[in-house]
Amino acid sequence: MKKIIYLQDKAIGDGHVTIQSMTNTRTSDVDATLSQIKALADAGADFVRISVPDRESASAVKYLTEKSPVPLIGDIHFSAEPAITAVKSGIAKIRVNPSNIPPDGLKKIVEVCKEYRVPIRVGVNKGSVKRKIEPKELVDLTLDAARQIEELWWDRLVLAVKTSSVKETVDSYRLLSGLTDYPLHVGLTESGTFESGSIKSAVAIGSLLLDGIGDTIRVSLAGDPIREVYAAKKILRAVGLDRDFVEVVACPSCARTEIPVEELAMKVENITKNYKKRLKIAVMGCVVNGVGEGKDADFGVAGGRDRSVLFKQGEIYKTVDNSEIERELIRFCEEYNG
Ligand code: SF4
Repeated sequence: MKKIIYLQDKAIGDGHVTIQSMTNTRTSDVDATLSQIKALADAGADFVRISVPDRESASAVKYLTEKSPVPLIGDIHFSAEPAITAVKSGIAKIRVNPSNIPPDGLKKIVEVCKEYRVPIRVGVNKGSVKRKIEPKELVDLTLDAARQIEELWWDRLVLAVKTSSVKETVDSYRLLSGLTDYPLHVGLTESGTFESGSIKSAVAIGSLLLDGIGDTIRVSLAGDPIREVYAAKKILRAVGLDRDFVEVVACPSCARTEIPVEELAMKVENITKNYKKRLKIAVMGCVVNGVGEGKDADFGVAGGRDRSVLFKQGEIYKTVDNSEIERELIRFCEEYNG
C-alpha cells in the first residue's frame, strides 16, 4: 500500500495530487523570497521549495518558515550543513540528490531529519549523473539511495526520477512506480521555456497521472515560477483531478464564425480563473454547429451575424444583440459565483 508522507499538516500520497513550485530569488534575500512564496501560495501551490546552497541561505530559513503560509521544502546539494540548519529551522521536507552528497553528509542529514521528523525527497536527476544512463539505471540509483536512507532507519521518503526528456521521464516513473510504495514527486527537469516546457510537462505529467502515477507535481519552467503553478493546475484539470473550476470551451473558429470567439473565451477565463466551482461555459462562433456542439455546457453563446443565441444546459433561452454577449457572459459568471 502507498505510504503517506506528511509535511506538517499536508499529506503527499493520500490520493490528492498536490502542486509545488520553487522560488527563484536568492533565499538570503528574505523579503523577495517571502514575497514570492506568498505569491506562489496564492496562485495555488501547496508547497514551495527554496534553495539552501550556503550558510547565509540556511540562516534565512527560520524567518521564512515562520512567515510562510505553506510548508517549505529545502533544496540541498553537496553539503550537509545547510540541510541540518534548515531542518532545525522548521523546514517541512528536504530534497537531496544523493549522487552529489558524500555518504557521511547524507548520514548527518538523515540523523537530523529523524530527530525532527522531517521527510526527505530523494531526487536523482539524470543530468546530475555524469554519464549516459537509461531509465532502469536511474530508477536503480534512486532505489539504492532510498535503501541507504532506510538502513539509517528513516523511511519518510518521497522519490523522483526526473529527466528533461518526456519519454525517458515517463518510462522511468512507470518503472519506479511498480517497484516502490513511496509517494512520487513527478515532473521533468529543465523542461524549458514557458510554451515548450508547459507542453512537454503536460504530456509527461499528464500521461503519468492518467496512469495513476504521481502524488505531487512540479512543472519546471524557466522564468516566473507563478506560471508553473498555473500550468500545474491546468494539467490537473485536464486529466480530471481537479473538477472544481470553470471550464471554458471554445470552437476553433472557421469561415462561419460571426463573433470574436478567442477574445470572449479569454475574457471569461480571466474573470473565472479563481472560481472554485464546477461550471462549463461554451463560446461557439456560429449557430450552425454551436448550440449542438456546446450542449454539454451550463451556459454558452453561439454567434449569429447581428444577434447571437444564448443557451443554458443545451437549451436556447434567448437571443441578444452581439454587443450584449460579453455582458451576458459576465453576468452569468458573477451570478453563478454568488
Ligand atoms: S462552431 Fe461554427 S464557427 Fe465554430 S468552428 Fe464550428 S462551424 Fe465554425
